[in-house]
Amino acid sequence: MTLRGRLTAAFLAVVLGPVLLGAFFVGSTMAAVDHSRSAERLGLAAAGVRTSVDALCQQLRAAADAVALVTDPAARPRAADQVVGRGLAAAVLVTDAAGRTSYATPGGPGRPWQDCSGAPPVAGPVRALAAQVQLRDPAGADLGTVAAAQPVDPAFVARLAAVTGVAVTLLDDPAGTDRVTHTTETRQVRAAVLAAARTVDGDQVTETVDGRYVRRVGPSPGQPLPLVLSVPGERPPGLHVALVGAVLLAALLAVLAAWRLARVTTRPLAELAGAVDRVTHGDLTARVPVRSRDEIGRLAGAFNRMTRETGSYVAALTSSRDQLRGHLAVLGDTLASTHDLQRILRVILHSAIAATGARAGAVLLLDGEGVLVGQCVEGLDDRWSGDDAATLRVPAGTGVVGTVAATGEPLCGRWEPTDAPTGEPTCETYIAVPFAAPRAAELTGRGDPDRPGHPPADDEPAPAGSGTLGVLALYDRLGAEEFDDDDLFTLRTFAAHAAVAVENVRVHEETQRLSLTDPLTGLWNYRYLRESIRREVERANRFGRMLSVLALDLDRFKDVNDTWGHAAGDAVLVEFARRVRGEIREVDLAFRQGGEEFVVLLPETDARGATIVAERLGAVVRDQPVLVDGHGGEPVRVAVTVSIGIAVYPDHAAGGQQVLDAADDALYAAKAAGRDGYRLAEPPDPPPTREIPVVVATVSPPDGLPRAGAPDAPVGGQGGASSGPHPPRQSRGR
Ligand code: GH3
Ligand code: MG
Ligand code: MG
Repeated sequence: MTLRGRLTAAFLAVVLGPVLLGAFFVGSTMAAVDHSRSAERLGLAAAGVRTSVDALCQQLRAAADAVALVTDPAARPRAADQVVGRGLAAAVLVTDAAGRTSYATPGGPGRPWQDCSGAPPVAGPVRALAAQVQLRDPAGADLGTVAAAQPVDPAFVARLAAVTGVAVTLLDDPAGTDRVTHTTETRQVRAAVLAAARTVDGDQVTETVDGRYVRRVGPSPGQPLPLVLSVPGERPPGLHVALVGAVLLAALLAVLAAWRLARVTTRPLAELAGAVDRVTHGDLTARVPVRSRDEIGRLAGAFNRMTRETGSYVAALTSSRDQLRGHLAVLGDTLASTHDLQRILRVILHSAIAATGARAGAVLLLDGEGVLVGQCVEGLDDRWSGDDAATLRVPAGTGVVGTVAATGEPLCGRWEPTDAPTGEPTCETYIAVPFAAPRAAELTGRGDPDRPGHPPADDEPAPAGSGTLGVLALYDRLGAEEFDDDDLFTLRTFAAHAAVAVENVRVHEETQRLSLTDPLTGLWNYRYLRESIRREVERANRFGRMLSVLALDLDRFKDVNDTWGHAAGDAVLVEFARRVRGEIREVDLAFRQGGEEFVVLLPETDARGATIVAERLGAVVRDQPVLVDGHGGEPVRVAVTVSIGIAVYPDHAAGGQQVLDAADDALYAAKAAGRDGYRLAEPPDPPPTREIPVVVATVSPPDGLPRAGAPDAPVGGQGGASSGPHPPRQSRGR
């Protein structure tokens, strides 16, 4: 059953119950009142009937007495006639002692006459009512009787009815009600009245089906006639019909009102249910009309507010999801398209902050000395006093990030102000996860000392944690809540990205460096020489500086090979390269051009400076014979010398290749002059002009090759993850 049905039924029960009760009460009360009033009327009428009959009997007795008082029998007929003539009786009958009629007034009513005393009762229709007195002589002897009578006819009954105000019926026989002598009842009700009279006795009153009240009067002493009285009830006709009609009308109105009320009550609920259904199916625009300010209206209002709020939450979630997608897309693009570690770490940090709802964050990488160095920071403003990310330095093992780096375990929680200052940002809440590259050694081949030409091992300090590369830390979650496990999970993901990025960049740099270095000596190779000479010439042009080129060739190197073997020759080449590296500045670049031929670029160096370097190189080779394994394994000292040709840009040539050629020519001149010395190139004729300057960026190698001579600072960590390949170390701190 629906709510509307239940409400309708409840309303009907509440309304119709009292209506029915009221109708019943009114009906029964009116019936009771009517009954008692009618019984009262009938009682009064009965008393009236008795009084009237009694008065008639008194009158007849007086009339009979008046005749009986006449002692002379002969005068009695005249006296009787006078009584009748005066209207005291309708007839007078005088009988003798034997019962014979001695005189009867003419025109009297027919027999039988009912005596007023009631005895003997007359069977059959009564014709008259009579009073009888005894005639006695002075001695008291019975002389007969005198009876005075009045006819009992329809007029008599009608008079009784008129006097009492009720309908009167005279029955033939007191024993039964079947035969009626006279009546004032109408023909329609007569049968019902007689049927009802049959059921009552004495003073009882009964009611006929059509609403008349009936009682009997007599025969009794003083009223010898068998009479039935009846009055119509005073109830308004059609009372029951009216009551039933009123109940039906009330019921109809109640049904209509209940239906309307239930509809008004349940309609908003139905609308609400419909709206809830729509929300269930994802339509958060569903609203219900607020029609009233009652509880249902408040419910509708609350529902609308709830869906509105939910809608805005969903919108916020959707937009933050879209933002996150955007961040991930940027992150993916960045990871895929660049080896700019700083930029990648910045994007990772930004995405991590956006994903977790932190206010600030930092990425730190472990440097060679076990110190975490900031790579990028975001939102640290008043949480940290530094201005440049690189000045954020925290030794491993101290503070939050230091502990994370040292233990390799993430930390999150609330900042304790009692903590000793460690140079870290201060905050309310923090979360910090380490990132490590466990397979880094396999990927890069780092740590393989047997690999020939590998860059010096002192470039790669041992990691402070168990392979920890750095720490990703976020500060002050929005809403001042602590970071939770979800954030930890998210941050681990981003930290893994950071680890991969660092490692990728490192591998990339390593690969690049390997492709540009000579595996035997670790010096830059010929490929990088071509790039470098072009770049250095361009740089010299731009700044109006000199660039000196030394071409070096070991003297009679073939003999070394021939005498001591190729391996010994290789060892000489390695040692030669090491000594050259030791003699030049950080900004200078040394290349193995091929075989036992080498080139050294000396930026911002003129011919005088170049000759000093050439002299020094010649000396460092010449002065100390190289120790190699001789035949049979015992060490032997091999004396080596080198010839050097010097050319200076722009003094000796107008371009990169030309200055290399000029240096080569000078080298041959040195060889020709007896070796173990240097020669400066001859100035050309006519003197060269500088190359037309070009913008640096346009000559940048398409594969992102680094710019030698402007060494990129290592970004921290183990062996220098940097934005460009890490060049082989060229000097030892001169
Ligand atoms: P000079 O230059 O003084 O005229 O005499 P040289 O003997 O050095 O002359 P040349 O340039 O003709 O000989 C170069 C020799 O260097 C030939 C080759 O045996 C040797 N050589 C070239 N590359 C290597 C190398 O990678 N390892 C070794 N061990 N020897 C090499
Ligand atoms: Mg040679
Ligand atoms: Mg040679």
